[in-house]
Amino acid sequence: MIIDVSKMKSIETFKIEGTEDWLSKIYAEFKTPKDAQKPLLQALVSVDARDPACVTVRGTVDYTPFVDCSRCGLAISWAISESIETRFLRDISELSDELELDETSIEDFTLTNGKTFDLEELINDAVQLALPTRLIRVGANDECLVCDEKLSDPIQNSADSENALNPFKALKNLKLDS
Ligand SMILES: [Zn+2]
Repeated sequence: MIIDVSKMKSIETFKIEGTEDWLSKIYAEFKTPKDAQKPLLQALVSVDARDPACVTVRGTVDYTPFVDCSRCGLAISWAISESIETRFLRDISELSDELELDETSIEDFTLTNGKTFDLEELINDAVQLALPTRLIRVGANDECLVCDEKLSDPIQNSADSENALNPFKALKNLKLDS
């Protein structure tokens, strides 16, 4: 969703309920299991345009998409709760030279055509950054909470699962001791 800040001078708040059309791009990246309800993304974002030199976007994103378990591939619900804080620099070439931006730890971005930014992109980035590279839910006994297999167990594949489970048995079959 493109937000034009060129005329904005105060703080504007955007409440995203999860049914907005432009969220479909984010939703397309996750599969919902057949019998499950499609999880909705919710966000509350404020755009602070009071500073003539920059626009600061702050907010929170809450979303619990289904992701594939990195261990067994089954769908797991993954709760994401991320905060957003981004600063877009306005075109300050027309403003006086004395105007200086505060030093902050916020990463600076530039407004498209000096006017707009894409809220969908900001939220999508927050979601992607919140997902770890390894998606797995582990219980107290080191077991996968989706399929109940112990994480320390090797993944079984049907054919020689017995050998896979017990490497020593596989060694025995080599008859090294004969
Ligand atoms: Zn599993």
